[in-house]
Amino acid sequence: MSKVDAPRHDPVPIGEVAAPPFCRLPDPLSLFADRTHRLRVLAHGHALAPYLRFLSDLTEAQYRIQDALPEPEMPDADARQRAREFGMPPLDRNRFTADAAYDATLERLLAIAATIAMPPVAAAALARVTVADGATRETMMRALLADSVPVERLAEHVFVAAALQVHFARLAARLDADALVPVGDGVCPACGGPPVASMVVGWKGAHGTRFCGCALCGTQWNVVRIKCTLCGSTKGISYQEVDGSGGIVKAETCEACRGYVKILQQHQQSDVDPLADDVASLALDLLVREAGYRRGAFNPFLIGY
Ligand SMILES: [Zn+2]
Ligand SMILES: [Zn+2]
Repeated sequence: MSKVDAPRHDPVPIGEVAAPPFCRLPDPLSLFADRTHRLRVLAHGHALAPYLRFLSDLTEAQYRIQDALPEPEMPDADARQRAREFGMPPLDRNRFTADAAYDATLERLLAIAATIAMPPVAAAALARVTVADGATRETMMRALLADSVPVERLAEHVFVAAALQVHFARLAARLDADALVPVGDGVCPACGGPPVASMVVGWKGAHGTRFCGCALCGTQWNVVRIKCTLCGSTKGISYQEVDGSGGIVKAETCEACRGYVKILQQHQQSDVDPLADDVASLALDLLVREAGYRRGAFNPFLIGY
């Protein structure tokens, strides 16, 4: 593992003064289509290839089930306005209740998942979710929205997480990006969730700036570079990577909170995806954890079989 201190200068290409938007709301179709493509690229020759291919089939299902889904129930305009005034995210995860759109999303996802080739542990988990009653599914949904999934039950939560991601991406896509406000360090301004990773982007007009990606709704929000995305500290930030990994994925470690979140170099590799590249760089987690840092990101797909 190599460790470098944060660079003092933050290079921006000459002639480009980046004035990034505060956030980018997801496009629910391209979000999952692009993620599927990225997972398939990452699977080539990868030690986790069978799992990455299974995830790519699952994300393809997330893309395919969206055709003619019912409209999701949005929080009403008053509630969204109040959230904005109080610096809260408009999509309230704690008070979320399943609507017809979410129920249809989960049913369709489970039906397509049954046709996917998957590791035996995942297949057994899918069978359990498929026969689970409403109360059990509700408990799983609550655990995911609270980012506190029991370790021994991660496998079945993968499928509920996939349905929640589709539903929350559809909700977030219906928000007004200009009405969103910062709600705190390491918190998605749309749904209140933690980041899965951050990216230094090469987007036109935002080149060289950094965005955090939400694990749940796929919203990306601007965060200055060389600052801990968990606690906001700007001191004691370092970057660590697996030797020979090419530097596309690094861990941004913080001495203040002893946490880390990965940072992707999207401006160097345009098709990186926060969730996909996080799973594929599990080796980096093992190295950084060995050095005593706590993983601050949430990714319901980051499990091994
Ligand atoms: Zn979010
Ligand atoms: Zn920190």
